[in-house]
Amino acid sequence: MKHRAHGKNFVGGRREAWGYLYGGGLVILGLLLLISSPAAMAQDRYPVPWDKVEKETLEHFQNLIRINTSNPPGNETPAAEYVQRALEREGIYGTFLALDPKRANLVARIRGNGSKRPILVMGHTDVVGVQKEQWSVAPFAAVRKDGYIWGRGTLDDKHDVTAGLMLMLLLKRQGVKLDRDVILLCEVGEEGYNQEGLRHVMDKYWEQIDAEFALAEGGGGLIKGGKVEFVGVATTEKYRWRIQLSAKGRGGHGSQPTPDSAVVKIANAVSKIGAWVPEMKLSETTRTYFERLAEISPPAEAARYRAILDPAKRAEVEKYFAQEEPRHNSMIRTTLAPTVLKAGFRDNVIPSEAEAIIDIRALPEEDMAKFRKMLEDVIADPSIEIKPILGRDKAPASKLNTEMWAGLEKTQKRLYPGAVVLPMMLTGASDLSPLRSKGVQAYGIGPLMLEEDIKGGVGAHADNERILEKSLHDYVRFMWHAVLEVAASK
Ligand SMILES: [Zn+2]
Repeated sequence: MKHRAHGKNFVGGRREAWGYLYGGGLVILGLLLLISSPAAMAQDRYPVPWDKVEKETLEHFQNLIRINTSNPPGNETPAAEYVQRALEREGIYGTFLALDPKRANLVARIRGNGSKRPILVMGHTDVVGVQKEQWSVAPFAAVRKDGYIWGRGTLDDKHDVTAGLMLMLLLKRQGVKLDRDVILLCEVGEEGYNQEGLRHVMDKYWEQIDAEFALAEGGGGLIKGGKVEFVGVATTEKYRWRIQLSAKGRGGHGSQPTPDSAVVKIANAVSKIGAWVPEMKLSETTRTYFERLAEISPPAEAARYRAILDPAKRAEVEKYFAQEEPRHNSMIRTTLAPTVLKAGFRDNVIPSEAEAIIDIRALPEEDMAKFRKMLEDVIADPSIEIKPILGRDKAPASKLNTEMWAGLEKTQKRLYPGAVVLPMMLTGASDLSPLRSKGVQAYGIGPLMLEEDIKGGVGAHADNERILEKSLHDYVRFMWHAVLEVAASK
């Protein structure tokens, strides 16, 4: 609602500005100078015939959706070949980097003058599988219907592959003078362990993707009541630390229990972990997130998001989040979720061992050595063994004061005035954190979605996954503007 008012103000404001311009010849002269001088915005110096580009975007996107790259097994090479051919037709030569020939990553680069470090644009070519019978259209046909393009990969992540491809073609066609190299990486295996994908490229060919900034999936915008409310940009994500707890005890006959039962010990430990609420902590990202979310939320929600920032008022909201908004609860603290319990094999035998798996999602700033000590104190049973079984890519958050961040904000203001950029912490894991762990300032972006589609669950990995056609084209435009903002020579 607030945004509708904003929109009106914007139009009114423009009219006033025109009046002012007509009133002063000097101002007009200044404006003309600005347009003709090299200081004019790069986007104005390189005008794009968007009607033509939209047709082309749609064709590439549909062709890529029609290449079934369900992972497992992936078989992404035909998608990489498709992109490579499209680039090659216009003189951009990509390279395959493959651990497995059926699963080729593709990297391509357009050179700048080298005065600044490169920007990496990344999309993954694999998709998750489908349950065909749950779909109302063929999932790999890229059907156009009701203003959407339907199909597996339309929101995850072939729009990124397509936008990256269009970006490279446009940079080349328009002969954009660049301060930075622009690198496109179409990676494989993102929907799995990714040994063949980003990890392989990082291990073996780091110099080919080394960049100051990266853009990839992870964010996205919201359209509510016909207005763009926010453009979400992922700047950080939680650190996955999975542990196994094991207890040993005297086993024996179920008719003669002993006091040191492994099952009872594990059950006690799990119940203490379940009751533990680690301390709430805010970071630059989450603080800004709640501040800006308050700006665009209805009064009751806005009050809550402001209260979470206020140490005197936040206790109530913390409780509310824990009950009603688990995603927000997970954004303000390290969480621990017991996920697997294992003990026993016969109803009348006391087992001598019991195990539990705890899925821990730590705040990226959490000191894990200290956290482990706190966990031991919470369990308060030295006989329980704690064994880490997964933990990787602990990475610092990408900053909100970089040239790329400013470029994203400028792009939002230009394309969606009245909205805000929301910095986001993902509670799950993405391929940006390995890049962040190497010092890349990496930002997750994404297409705009209607509120009803987000609530209706037609998003990534869902049956009937689909993207608004307009959102696909807007996304290509967003990426073009954002990349030009930071990479084009002034
Ligand atoms: Zn994805």
